[in-house]
Amino acid sequence: MSNVRVRFAPSPTGELHIGGARTALFNILYVRSKGGTFVLRIDDTDLERSRADYIDKLIESLKWLGLDWDEGPYYQSKRISEYTSEAERLLSDKKAYRCYCSVEELASGREAAKKENRAFLYAGTCRELPPETEEKFLKEGREAVIRLRTPEHGSTVVNDLIRGEVSFDNEMLDDFIIIKSNGQPTYNFASVVDDLQMEITDVIRAEEHLSNTPRQLLCAQALGFDPPRFAHVPMILAPDRSKLSKRHGATSVEEFFREGYLPEALINYMALLGWSPGDDLEILSLKEMIDLFSLPRVNKTAAVYDVNKLAWMNGHYIREYDADKLAKAAIPFFKKKGLIKEELSANEYNFLKRVTTVVKERARTLVELADAAEYFYIDQFEYDPKGIKKVFKKEDAAELMSTLTEELQALEPFDAESTEKLFQSLSEKTGLSPGKLIQPARLAVTGRTGGPGLFEILDLLGKEKTIARMKKAIEYVENKM
Ligand code: GLU
Repeated sequence: MSNVRVRFAPSPTGELHIGGARTALFNILYVRSKGGTFVLRIDDTDLERSRADYIDKLIESLKWLGLDWDEGPYYQSKRISEYTSEAERLLSDKKAYRCYCSVEELASGREAAKKENRAFLYAGTCRELPPETEEKFLKEGREAVIRLRTPEHGSTVVNDLIRGEVSFDNEMLDDFIIIKSNGQPTYNFASVVDDLQMEITDVIRAEEHLSNTPRQLLCAQALGFDPPRFAHVPMILAPDRSKLSKRHGATSVEEFFREGYLPEALINYMALLGWSPGDDLEILSLKEMIDLFSLPRVNKTAAVYDVNKLAWMNGHYIREYDADKLAKAAIPFFKKKGLIKEELSANEYNFLKRVTTVVKERARTLVELADAAEYFYIDQFEYDPKGIKKVFKKEDAAELMSTLTEELQALEPFDAESTEKLFQSLSEKTGLSPGKLIQPARLAVTGRTGGPGLFEILDLLGKEKTIARMKKAIEYVENKM
């Protein structure tokens, strides 16, 4: 095992978003290609917004995607004493100081900055408090935050593995808070203490954190450690290049699961959001991605999310799945539609396996797969109005279907092969093209004008159901047309 160590550090304030999942994936691709260790850390210091149920969901989503970690999960909420003692060390080294400015005192500065349309920077009021004043404040029991003493001039440079050198003017960074008045660390401080103590060598995370990086570098420097390397992965935008949000459809891993996407498809699709493996490669297994992945091949520019491409890819993986895997993946979707019961007998499961194999060709999601399988389970369906017009309205429709029904009734054995032969010989006898015979039968037994091969459908339905549906359709045509 190499000494490369990366971490994925989600905040449990919502479901795992596609952006977060992609960050986890890039961490995996990188660390597996280097033979290192993947650490999972839960950034749950935001007490108001963090929720235990989101932690469970995060973990479930990562597992479902197959993004397994080697170490953790660590919880920041359980490491408060580490942050406090590191902050105390900075205080005694004079690298940090207590600030007693009240919210009200800071408010006017904040207001002024807002009016002038500039970022609020703390003025450094408590930077050099005389010890007597500080003692007095402490005695009065004044609340205090801890701030890092940051350089007033010069610049802090981030050597980003994707973006190259990014320089930040120190004058734009104030003495920021590392421990809040309630004793909780800020994200920037907790993150650095963890990255250092957990010996993280590479931080791969979303671009939105690039502006936090100079603060984190300054924290690491103050703590006396070499910082990790940083790589900031590009944003994911909606097709209209706006921020990807709920109105663009599913955005969390859980929603993608509910909409019938397969983990392999999501993984494959997410990998291409901002990374190009070269040679126009598109369909890749996790193993292939690991072999090809490198951070310099990750784009600097935003990636655009395209649900149609994801759906196309999902269709590919649905077709690739073997019968057993597909049936198992389909079960929750068939249950949701009420097609199958909670417990399946061996026969019912085998039937499900055959049905999903037959309808999988055109399904792009498992929801579409269950829709396409409906008539195998439900006798009461409507006929497609277009089919009624095109097929049932034909003058000889009822007569043709009666002939078919009689022949099918007499057929023994009744399977895909024998029904196909029957239609062939009937076509020869009547001079009608096979299509002309297949169309009314298909509409009668499925209610639809398209779908998988008719003979496979008949085989699966069996003789009894086929005949009953044919008779019902004849009645319909005789009475309604
Ligand atoms: N908890 C932060 C987030 O979810 C982690 C950022 C980081 O990776 O440092 O955005």
